[in-house]
Amino acid sequence: MANTKRPPIVTILGHVDHGKTSILDAIRHTQVQLHETGGITQHIGAYQITFQDQLITFIDTPGHQAFSAMRARGGSVADVAILVVAADDGVMPQTKESISHINHAKIPFIVAINKIDIPGINTQTIKAQLAEAGVFVEGYGGSVPVVEVSAKVGTNLDLLLETILLLADMNELVADPDTDPEALIIESSIDRFKGPLATLVVKNGTFINGQEIVALNQAGDPTITATGKIRAMISFEGQTITKAPPSTPIQVLGFVKVPPVGSPVVTASFAKAFGSGKEDLKKPNQAKAGEYPVIIKADVAGTLEAIISNLPEGIAVIFSDTGAVNESDILLALTTGAKIIAFRINVVPAAKKLAKVEHIDILAYATIYELFDDLKLRLLQNQKPPEEITLGQAKVKKLFSLPNLTIIGAVATSGKLSLGDQIKIAGKPGITAAISSLKIGHDDQKEIKKDQEFGFTTSTPLDIKPGDVIMSFKLSA
Ligand code: GDP
Repeated sequence: MANTKRPPIVTILGHVDHGKTSILDAIRHTQVQLHETGGITQHIGAYQITFQDQLITFIDTPGHQAFSAMRARGGSVADVAILVVAADDGVMPQTKESISHINHAKIPFIVAINKIDIPGINTQTIKAQLAEAGVFVEGYGGSVPVVEVSAKVGTNLDLLLETILLLADMNELVADPDTDPEALIIESSIDRFKGPLATLVVKNGTFINGQEIVALNQAGDPTITATGKIRAMISFEGQTITKAPPSTPIQVLGFVKVPPVGSPVVTASFAKAFGSGKEDLKKPNQAKAGEYPVIIKADVAGTLEAIISNLPEGIAVIFSDTGAVNESDILLALTTGAKIIAFRINVVPAAKKLAKVEHIDILAYATIYELFDDLKLRLLQNQKPPEEITLGQAKVKKLFSLPNLTIIGAVATSGKLSLGDQIKIAGKPGITAAISSLKIGHDDQKEIKKDQEFGFTTSTPLDIKPGDVIMSFKLSA
């Protein structure tokens, strides 16, 4: 299908207390009942109204916060902005800041002079102040539309909505509902029961329940910051929907971790087709000998920081992140010997199963005291760590990369290396893997001795390069 007209996405900015929330509430209350569906109204960060048979999407998250996040990520979700200035207060510092945000986003805007119900106000003064701040409104030397409103009384709200539709028409807002969908995240959080939640506003295409999706770092930087699958899409009316066409605000359940506000969202297949970068997995750290390695997962970033900065000495944080314990955490624990700490956070069912099979401990805590007391106890028990005994060494000569695996060509330089041995790269002590196949030429081997040239694969990918020295080892009891 070709491009078709889509509803305008509107954001509202202005100085604190100038009436942004009041205007949004007044519009929502007067218009939403027109297409009331019986659902329980949700505050998901955006809502839609129907005015003169046309849909308009309003973003109702605090303008500045959302705008700063969007700006930091180089994106902008809104097509039209409303700059609110209170008639009794005039242009204030945050008004100027808002003007700068709007100019930066290069979107058309309307000035709404609010609180005109207050006796004795003079809107000409406000227009003069705006001109001083570089905004020239209609009738005052410029072409920026201006509407004098009162959120309290309801004056001219219809005129404001008409002006939004006019600006939208002039800017020919179109989208293709059948193209690869893309959206921007305007709010994100974590719910103890539902997991990560993100409110998206669809910019193009149509999102469909069940799609695999990814959040990207920012416009122009396709690094993946969070992956997920749409488990449910909730409308601002609290209803589950299966399709979200352009300009629809939706709350999405199904991200594996909380994606940052301002992130673009696309389908996983689209990201792949465009060679989107690898997942931005923070590189695991390494534990020193004798340290107690842990992987920490927590519900919110603030808590995570509080835990990490107060950990007792002797604990090595191999990896930490917000969001549920997932399979990659278990695999990391498997290769590093770390315990997993789940602080006020769930374990996804697949990870639970894997942890059971691989005998990985997941330690769940609900309070910081509980966590620290237990860790101190574990540290005491851990005081005599097992020692690594080197069994053999080999020098890596060449890598053969096949589609799903890398065969490493090496020559043994001392001792022996056996199938199933744990290995590590010299100088990279924390990360280990097992030798999962061992060959000389085409023949499988159980064991390789000094000076033999051989090929092998590892149970989990190690970042091995030609010239690296690998060591096979066992731990003392
Ligand atoms: P925000 O901080 O920009 O979201 O501003 P609010 O919507 O919270 O409004 C701040 C204060 O101004 C509240 O006490 C409102 O009741 C009041 N207010 C908002 N709109 C009007 C209006 O049109 N007229 C009058 N008189 N007061 C208003």
